[in-house]
Amino acid sequence: VTVPADTRIAGGRVLLDGRLEPRDVLVTGGVVAGLCAPGDDAPAAAVVDARGRLVLPGLVDAHTHSYAQLARDTIPDDRLEPWLARAVAAGAGLDAEAVAVAAQLSALDALRHGATTTLDHATLGDGHAAALVAAYDAVGARVALAAQVADVGFADSLHGVDPATRAAVAAADDRAPATAAHQLGRCRELLDAAAGHERVHVLLGPSAPERCSPALLEGVAALAAEHGAGLHVHLLETPQQRAGGDPLGTLADHGLLRGGLSLAHCVHLTADDVARLAAAGAGVVHNPLSNLSLGSGRLDLRALLDAGVAVGLGCDGWNTGGGQDVLQAARLALAGRRPETPAAEWLAPAEVLPLAGAGGAAAIGLPPGTGRIAPGGPADLLLVDPGRAGFLDGEDVAGQLVMGGLGAGLREAWVAGRPVLIDGDPLLIDGERLRARAAELLPRLRAAAAPHLELARRLATLLRAAGPVPSSV
Ligand SMILES: [Zn+2]
Repeated sequence: VTVPADTRIAGGRVLLDGRLEPRDVLVTGGVVAGLCAPGDDAPAAAVVDARGRLVLPGLVDAHTHSYAQLARDTIPDDRLEPWLARAVAAGAGLDAEAVAVAAQLSALDALRHGATTTLDHATLGDGHAAALVAAYDAVGARVALAAQVADVGFADSLHGVDPATRAAVAAADDRAPATAAHQLGRCRELLDAAAGHERVHVLLGPSAPERCSPALLEGVAALAAEHGAGLHVHLLETPQQRAGGDPLGTLADHGLLRGGLSLAHCVHLTADDVARLAAAGAGVVHNPLSNLSLGSGRLDLRALLDAGVAVGLGCDGWNTGGGQDVLQAARLALAGRRPETPAAEWLAPAEVLPLAGAGGAAAIGLPPGTGRIAPGGPADLLLVDPGRAGFLDGEDVAGQLVMGGLGAGLREAWVAGRPVLIDGDPLLIDGERLRARAAELLPRLRAAAAPHLELARRLATLLRAAGPVPSSV
């Protein structure tokens, strides 16, 4: 595949500010150099015929965990707290090769649904940072790689659990948590591995306030400031996480509540939380299917948008969010709160669609222009056959994309000015070989998970026996 140095994508209808406009897109050095009316003869070394195509911005899936591509046995059978140990167990046997395979499966899954950028909140073992960077590089996708770190044991991370249950969980759990120093070392490994890789944006990702010690949170804040890295944290996914504390205040106390911080889930925010997020310039990533499949709740998206908080959409890992279809997340975001919301306040498709692109990019701190087609922004583009996508005409493009998705219409996905996916197949790696290797790895991963799954079952049983935990929200 030759990398066009200077390309004109000619004759398509380009999505600009929510409308389809006839424009040619000029691409130079991986960046949108300009937009011109068809017939303007701006010179280009190569011309791509986009007649009959829609030219859409590459979408942004702003929260996932790529390992879950190889942990498909862990579709939730319970709420987050009893389920989590199962998911962790499924990742127990992942070596550097397996995380690379999972990352490529995840990137391709997202690309097939139009997301040219994913945020991968990844727990890093030995050699994983370099393997992940190389894996995404090889696919050609853009990635925000967030080093997921934690140093608090499972029992101590549980809020809203009675002391006896917590003690029983602690007694049953023989896993030693990592130290803050070790986890900060993992963050540094990722910063080093990604240096010089233009399509890899590093974030530091404390797993959640309750899963990190003050020393780790402060260390992460200092490291992020030193390297200009963004921050990505799970916050208030379940009502239990609010019990006995103020997790957003914990982040603020340790220097993490600031611009460049994005928070996944935020299902159980108070009005005061929303105001603090808006004042700090922090972003939120809404993962509607994951929040439903874990029974966590339904985020009040309208409240965040009204407060001026940057919001993106995430699919979350395959086990909780299924196929990496960010337009499906948009569909669920559109309708998710309607039952309890007066109709006059319902969200419209035109408000939700941008969250799957530029809104998500802003929420997770990607450079301006990402997620939209704009001069100076990255040339991350989708060439879509509207007929195969199920479009009947060019009207109400937001409604058709949010409700109908891309269907079979995605012909080409481009990242940084070059195609990386054509008609569902990756262009830069061998997709058949990747699937075959994943299938080979699964038996070994299942065997490695088995003893850990036994522990996960014991912990879940203890937590279930404790009964429902009262919610403070
Ligand atoms: Zn997550």
